[in-house]
Amino acid sequence: MAILVLGGAGYIGSHTVYELIDAGREVVVADNLLTGFRAAVHPKARFYKLDIRDRAAVDALLEREKIDGVIHFAASSQVGESMSDPLKYYDNNLGGTTVLLQSMVAHGIDKIVFSSTAATYGEPERVPIMESDKTAPTNCYGETKLAMEKMMGWTGRAHGLRYVALRYFNACGAHPSAVIGEAHDPETHLIPLILQVPNGQREQISVFGDDYPTRDGTCVRDYIHVCDLAQAHILALDYLTRDGESDVFNLGNGVGYTVNEVIETARRVTGHAIPAKMCPRRDGDPAQLVASSDKAKRVLGWKPRYDSLEDIVGTAWSWHKSHPHGFGGE
Ligand code: UDP
Repeated sequence: MAILVLGGAGYIGSHTVYELIDAGREVVVADNLLTGFRAAVHPKARFYKLDIRDRAAVDALLEREKIDGVIHFAASSQVGESMSDPLKYYDNNLGGTTVLLQSMVAHGIDKIVFSSTAATYGEPERVPIMESDKTAPTNCYGETKLAMEKMMGWTGRAHGLRYVALRYFNACGAHPSAVIGEAHDPETHLIPLILQVPNGQREQISVFGDDYPTRDGTCVRDYIHVCDLAQAHILALDYLTRDGESDVFNLGNGVGYTVNEVIETARRVTGHAIPAKMCPRRDGDPAQLVASSDKAKRVLGWKPRYDSLEDIVGTAWSWHKSHPHGFGGE
């Protein structure tokens, strides 16, 4: 029996496929390659180019392969774009998941682990954030992810499907081999943008706001290594295989770093001065997002291996230095 990874050519999906194959699992990957890269897919995974909104294609795959459980990353994930083009997010994230669940139910596949996000909380009432805290997304991306969680819940009640939703905080870093890593177009995330400076692709990094109520005025985020996120998906699937109940888990390190601290860390790791320029706040950025991941540790047995920001940025730097154009050539 194989594990089906939807969106397995994307950033977190591709790292999860590497961890699954390292753990000796049989893996089938499906991805429409709109934002993912064929080169990011582990050579030992069986690959299907398909869009999960295409019911006939999903049905054909589930009929051809013997699938035990699904890990679902196939979604649009840019906050800014979700605000300017919300219907794209409803179509891809909710439309795609609707088709996927219809096909899973029809084929008797009853386990799914999927990417949710800290954006489901919106502006937090307190940090660290617990899973039981209020969910009030402030952007359409978070809204569609919260709706996906609820869709799984209602489908589970009706058809016996069980799910685990993993609410990621700030995913970052790269596989320690530097064979795969983060590659978005356009890039909007802090660490890859910072590393474009020592890579000679950007003059300076813009700091979005230095008047937040934090220790140095810049936003605080919880940065978690992508391979630690990947491990959590495997543990979550094993939990469902042991008949675990449907549930939601935060995934973060539980430690917050300011934007200035991340830049300072990157200066130490790269040995480059990395000039920074103070800019106005970015719309919709909460001042602080820090996870309590106690529940994932307690219930899933998850233990992040990368607890030093320096090590995390170090893996990202190895990847970006060796792949300055991502998967698009050296
Ligand atoms: N950020 C920044 N400059 C940039 C990109 C991001 O100051 O060029 C800040 C952003 O305002 C946020 C933090 O870095 O406080 C992390 O942003 P990112 O987009 O990486 O992740 P998000 O927190 O939005 O999921």
